[in-house]
Amino acid sequence: MSHTVILVGAGHAHLYVAARAKALREHGAQVILIDPGRFWYSGLATGMLGGMYTAADDQVDPKALVEAGGGTFTADRVASVNPGARSVHLAGGESLTYDYLSINVGSRVNLDAIPGMADDPSVWPVKPVSNLWRLRRHLETDLCAGRTPRVVVVGGGPTGCEVAANLAALRRRHRAEMPLTLVTLSDRLIAQAPAGAARALYRKLQACNVAIRLGTGIARRQGSALITNAGCRIEADIVVAAIGLQANELVHETGLPTDAEQGLRINAKLHSIADDRVFAAGDCAYLEGHHLPKLGVFGVRQAAFIHANLLASLAGQSLDEYRPQKRYLAILNLGDGSGLASWGPLWWRGRSSFWLKDVIDRRFMARYRSRYGS
Ligand SMILES: Cc1cc2nc3c(=O)[nH]c(=O)nc-3n(C[C@H](O)[C@H](O)[C@H](O)COP(=O)(O)OP(=O)(O)OC[C@H]3O[C@@H](n4cnc5c(N)ncnc54)[C@H](O)[C@@H]3O)c2cc1C
Repeated sequence: MSHTVILVGAGHAHLYVAARAKALREHGAQVILIDPGRFWYSGLATGMLGGMYTAADDQVDPKALVEAGGGTFTADRVASVNPGARSVHLAGGESLTYDYLSINVGSRVNLDAIPGMADDPSVWPVKPVSNLWRLRRHLETDLCAGRTPRVVVVGGGPTGCEVAANLAALRRRHRAEMPLTLVTLSDRLIAQAPAGAARALYRKLQACNVAIRLGTGIARRQGSALITNAGCRIEADIVVAAIGLQANELVHETGLPTDAEQGLRINAKLHSIADDRVFAAGDCAYLEGHHLPKLGVFGVRQAAFIHANLLASLAGQSLDEYRPQKRYLAILNLGDGSGLASWGPLWWRGRSSFWLKDVIDRRFMARYRSRYGS
């Protein structure tokens, strides 16, 4: 083997590359995938929270995937990257050198944006996605014991609304009274979606008995309350923080150019604008000139380009250029067997939307699971 390709993070793009590790090996490369654990799929995550899917439905074993193609898996977290020495340093203390590096470590919720949230164990950020499984278990313990915590979801974007709808589903399953509130600074829900879709979602959440407070900014978490910008108290035993995603902090530990929120600055060839040996995809990357939303659909599309460009780099050939799609299908799981789909200005709500989402999501998972027994 003359080259080493290190894949940092088992995100959407790296699942694709790991499943095709054999092709990289055939180009003379050793392939190492580094991730602390399993891949949790956000597409099924809110349904898992609501009780529709199990934790097992939502996971892929990246170790089985990469090993099937002759690669190796290291269960650890990368703490920093030194592009000058072409090395990565693991939280466990080990250092590894690479010829080509690809980073697909996703995003996080910046709890520091709201004082008092970061160190409060009753505040649950929606990332990592495995938090939603832990939250379900936590709430089920309470509900089964007859306790009904006041739950407040902060954030009126697609994630906050989907979480609220599925918390309502969990409450229905347990025939419980658990009070649910959704708070958002914006004066409407899902601000990027068509206005009609936002109104339909508002009515749906109201019908599910979710109290909605639009135009309500949260200034801080204080004791058992959220204090609004206007100084009002909203009592909350549990807070779910869906206040937007920003790139994983690892990209700032590379010494390469980054955008503070969007991530590692990459060009259309999907490598760093300063280093053509360091590729990046998904939520941790900022494609120069495009403010792409932090959505899995972009990482999925970038996957084939990352794989092709790693192969081309190994072969000394020219690299492909990725052009992001202008429109994408977004479908929210509303927790009751219905969904809200949107495609540019078009939208529709109903059982067919959810059916389509379920088919797409299960197909995505099956692609990476059945063949490798994970
Ligand atoms: C509740 C929820 C629902 C969502 N639903 C949708 C949806 O329906 N459709 C959609 O398109 N988007 C959805 N999103 C957005 C979607 O989750 C993200 O855009 C997507 O997960 C980003 O994928 P990624 O491949 O960049 O990284 P991820 O899929 O987040 O994977 C990152 C991987 O990197 C690993 N990692 C992290 N740090 C390190 C490190 N230091 N070293 C090594 N490994 C590391 C993690 O363990 C993880 O396995 C949703 C988000 C949330 C929170």
